[in-house]
Amino acid sequence: MAGLDPSDFLGLDALLSDEELALRDTVRRFVRDRVLPGIADWFERAEFPVDMAKEVGALGLFGMHLTGYGCAGASAVQYGLACMELEAGDSGFRSFVSVQGSLAMFPIWKYGSEEQKSEWLPKMAGGEAIGCFGLTEPDVGSDPASMRTTARLDGDEWVLNGTKAWITNGGIADLAIVWARTDDGVRGFIVPKESPGFTTRDIERKLSLRASVTSELAFDDCRVPAENVLPGVTGMRGPLSSLNEARYGIVWGSMGAARACFEAALEYATTREQFGKPIGSFQLTQRKLADMSVELSKGQLLALHLGRLKDEDRVRPEQISLGKLNNVREALAIAREARTVLGANGITLEYPVVRHMNNLESVLTYEGTSEIHQLVLGKALTGLDAFG
Ligand SMILES: Cc1cc2nc3c(=O)[nH]c(=O)nc-3n(C[C@H](O)[C@H](O)[C@H](O)COP(=O)(O)OP(=O)(O)OC[C@H]3O[C@@H](n4cnc5c(N)ncnc54)[C@H](O)[C@@H]3O)c2cc1C
Repeated sequence: MAGLDPSDFLGLDALLSDEELALRDTVRRFVRDRVLPGIADWFERAEFPVDMAKEVGALGLFGMHLTGYGCAGASAVQYGLACMELEAGDSGFRSFVSVQGSLAMFPIWKYGSEEQKSEWLPKMAGGEAIGCFGLTEPDVGSDPASMRTTARLDGDEWVLNGTKAWITNGGIADLAIVWARTDDGVRGFIVPKESPGFTTRDIERKLSLRASVTSELAFDDCRVPAENVLPGVTGMRGPLSSLNEARYGIVWGSMGAARACFEAALEYATTREQFGKPIGSFQLTQRKLADMSVELSKGQLLALHLGRLKDEDRVRPEQISLGKLNNVREALAIAREARTVLGANGITLEYPVVRHMNNLESVLTYEGTSEIHQLVLGKALTGLDAFG
């Protein structure tokens, strides 16, 4: 297409600084060289190549938007661009980096003691220690304030009891950030994997986010030292502020998955022939491509806008909800539409589309379902709480 880049139709690259573009290109190369060649096999075998953690750490992507303790101190826009490129590879990779940086490192960085930060953050930034974030429980999803996992102080130890479910990285994590009910309200705990009474079990037979480990964490009189509580926060603000960080990454990441699907559909539409012509010459196919391009462009612009607001410390959680709701919903719609363009080939792992489509079903559900974000927006708009 003369003069216009289909993957950046609005020319948004012109709004990025040289530093932002350089970081984006580095992650794009990493995804091209290290993720794309293996991703279909990892997805098929339902495994995550955890040995690549140190490589991702060397790129400075873990906790990249945090400062000090070995973290890269990048801007929110740079973090977003990295999420977009990673998710153009696979949502599993972006989830791995989001959970490590936003859900495990962020609460330590924000609410941890000096000792906790010095002990864990440099190792986690380097990919030498993997973290997970335990909030959801088998019977507690969208309403995490009703969690049942408890922690009680017994001498100089906390004793945890309960089960967390659907925990990304759970089975491969060296430490879990676990949110539990105490006499003083919800607190966060650093639970190293070798803690007595702590076990994990991976969830099998997933048809979405297969190249990502999802686990159950069980705490049966699990004991951790008294100093393993995060001292800086009590109440749901701890987990919810961490989720806000991760959701921001999803606003960008989902557009990466959408872009990959759009690019696959566009390439297929111009090379596949039926009725003696490329299928991209049919008006119905062009309409699909045009609609995909419109939503992709709008979603990319929205991500960049929220990123700039975040860098100015002006973004509101409700605005991030708007971004997560829109961009994941539209990414899924783009993936489904792209799948139709590829016809039968669209259902195989030879092309990225059905893999992204299935992954996005998880992305639609985690970090607040679409319905929950609609309720967040509904409350912000009306002042009326429709949650309970
Ligand atoms: C692959 C994957 C990885 C995950 N990783 C993590 C992780 O690392 N850490 C973690 O803590 N959790 C994780 N989760 C869990 C995820 O955050 C939850 O699945 C999510 O919060 C939704 O909870 P639920 O699945 O129990 O659904 P439910 O809360 O039971 O909801 C079921 C349906 O009811 C709707 N619903 C619920 N309440 C309302 C309401 N008030 N009004 C209207 N509709 C409503 C929901 O929107 C949804 O459509 C992960 C999930 C998946 C699938």
